[in-house]
Amino acid sequence: MKRYSAFAVAREAFRNHTGWERAWASPEPKKKYDVIIVGAGGHGLATAYYLGKNFGITNVAVLEKGWLGGGNTGRNTTIIRSNYLQDASAAIYEKARGLYENLSQDLNYNIMFSPRGVMMLAQTQAEVRGYERTAHANALQGVKTEYIGPQRVKQLVPIINIDGPRYPVLGAIWQARAGTARHDAVAWGYARACSDMGMHIIQKCEVTGIEQSGGKVTGVNTTRGSIGCDKLGVVVAGHSGHLADMAGFRLPIESVSLQALVSEPIKPCMDVVVMANTVHGYMSQSDKGEMVIGGGTDGYNNYTQRGAFHHIEETVRALVETFPMVARLKMLRQWGGIVDVTGDRSPILSKTPVDGMFVNCGWGTGGFKAIPGSGWGLAELMAKGHSPLTEAFGLNRFYEGRFIDESVAAGVAH
Ligand SMILES: Cc1cc2nc3c(=O)[nH]c(=O)nc-3n(C[C@H](O)[C@H](O)[C@H](O)COP(=O)(O)OP(=O)(O)OC[C@H]3O[C@@H](n4cnc5c(N)ncnc54)[C@H](O)[C@@H]3O)c2cc1C
Repeated sequence: MKRYSAFAVAREAFRNHTGWERAWASPEPKKKYDVIIVGAGGHGLATAYYLGKNFGITNVAVLEKGWLGGGNTGRNTTIIRSNYLQDASAAIYEKARGLYENLSQDLNYNIMFSPRGVMMLAQTQAEVRGYERTAHANALQGVKTEYIGPQRVKQLVPIINIDGPRYPVLGAIWQARAGTARHDAVAWGYARACSDMGMHIIQKCEVTGIEQSGGKVTGVNTTRGSIGCDKLGVVVAGHSGHLADMAGFRLPIESVSLQALVSEPIKPCMDVVVMANTVHGYMSQSDKGEMVIGGGTDGYNNYTQRGAFHHIEETVRALVETFPMVARLKMLRQWGGIVDVTGDRSPILSKTPVDGMFVNCGWGTGGFKAIPGSGWGLAELMAKGHSPLTEAFGLNRFYEGRFIDESVAAGVAH
């Protein structure tokens, strides 16, 4: 595949852009692959990429029932940070954040990583205590964060009202090297790199059954016929329960819709990401100028991949207290994605009761930030049978009561 470069852009400008190739191929499925990954979201594609890059395993197919990146990967609010509480979480999220820093160069695809800084506001005494504790834990883990006071918050985000009527801003946990990236580009960049290694990305190919023999996975049934494999990675976010059901076991996961919305584009007014977890809303400004706004999950399990009016009202009402300027904004679009939430708000990266079958799910409302680290870890687990990054996130933790409680770090969302 031809490399993207300033020279290539200049060359194509002179020949009317006729020389660009398709970013990834769309081949017919083969009868059998060494590895099949189900789900062409960020996590599935990253797993395939690191299988090839780190372990030389390239006889791989990534099967996607819709279009690649059309699930939560293309629907999120793109927040990337790594200031989680528990050591195992900090390790995998910080690995991911570190990989994001150079991902554009690694993939030769501009993913528009913008380390603009993320702050999580403390608006109750409980949050002050929680975030101070997280900042101390991060210091021990080697994750650079700091707890800042309200004046520094105001200095970094002048549009904030720190004397809010119900919840004044008491401080914040601030991670300066956290930020955002263009979510579609992350999926497209990994897909292009996988295709370049000879892997097959097969869209419009829904997995409808999992074939096994003597307790070992042998392949999948799909809407495009049966396809054999030696190893299977299931990376389907909110649909993980269905795939586990096909294989004959259950996952401790709930699927709920999480919604987001964007405003009309306005002039630059906020150059960091702010999350206000007490009032349940978070906001950043996109490169186009739209305010990107997210709220909490629906209060009941569902598979509704769309927005709902009451959410606009609840989320915007909450944000208006902290950002009075929001009251004058017109909202443009809203949407939803089906997220996969575990009881301890931590992911599952694990072997399963079916030999050769692995799952990567449970990222819930906050898995975009983890894509490179999660792909790295799952690829290692699938190739070698163990990975230091994924060890704590096995399914066995639910039998053993060894939870990785991230309800403070991942309480609202992201
Ligand atoms: C509104 C919203 C805002 C969010 N904001 C953030 C944020 O700011 N920061 C953050 O870190 N995270 C955020 N998230 C969470 C994040 O988007 C997800 O955790 C992450 O994208 C999950 O990626 P994935 O690859 O596991 O899943 P997905 O991107 O959902 O990919 C799974 C794929 O599997 C496919 N699939 C399902 N069933 C089958 C089948 N039977 N056969 C074949 N293919 C199948 C689906 O079509 C889908 O494309 C947000 C999510 C939403 C919905």
